[in-house]
Amino acid sequence: MNKQRLDEMADNPNLVPGIYNYCDRWCERCTHGARCLTFQMEQAEAGQLPPEAHDVNNAAFWQRIGASFALAREMIEEFLKREGLTLTAEDLAATAAQERLDHARVKKHPCCRAAHAYIGLVAAWFGADDDAWLAKAHELEQVAELRMPGRAPRQEFAELRDAVEVIRFYQYFLYPKIARALGGRLDGDEFGDADGSAKIALIAMDRSLGAWSRLLAQFPEREELTLPLLVHLEKLRRAVEHVFPKARAFLRPGLDEPAA
Ligand code: SF4
Repeated sequence: MNKQRLDEMADNPNLVPGIYNYCDRWCERCTHGARCLTFQMEQAEAGQLPPEAHDVNNAAFWQRIGASFALAREMIEEFLKREGLTLTAEDLAATAAQERLDHARVKKHPCCRAAHAYIGLVAAWFGADDDAWLAKAHELEQVAELRMPGRAPRQEFAELRDAVEVIRFYQYFLYPKIARALGGRLDGDEFGDADGSAKIALIAMDRSLGAWSRLLAQFPEREELTLPLLVHLEKLRRAVEHVFPKARAFLRPGLDEPAA
């Protein structure tokens, strides 16, 4: 996409500026696509891109990424010119050095460590070498065949699938969001970005905890694996709430407040 096309799309009065900053990027489940420039851009590009542009092992994918960076650079340069600002090589080097320092500090924070550990815990839960999934599938098949009263196998299956999708979607989401929130705090968080990032991390944890509770109910024989995971995530949620006490009250544009 070129800048002119982007400017035309951004002129849409129905868009909510910054709505994509504090969402979970689960666009397939989002009802705000019509008000989101990121979604509109992706939709516009999707129709023009060949399938190989989505394949990380294909040159077309990296050409697309390169084009996005070139567009971003063009916009930054235009902004600097408009504001009468210049960026020297020394500015960039100093910023990069500071970023490295901040990142190293953020990585050591207990919340980041816990979010990172959570990724492995989830992988271990799904990688556990037992027949729980086969047994569950067999059980639902039998429930359906026997038309057992009080059971709704299709609904149970749908709920199970949803719980797995939720957990898997947020498995890798928490760490970068918590890291961004902590990094924003180090930067002084002038615009409340840290609270916004912490809020979407908290929402992701709320949903993940709900999904884990459903898995716990469906797989009682896995309680020994599931309970420690639930406790780990609950502790992380409380820690993030403690570090960012205003995060829950943060109003995310377009998501927590009515559109203007
Ligand atoms: S606001 Fe919704 S449509 Fe836009 S990027 Fe976020 S999840 Fe996707």
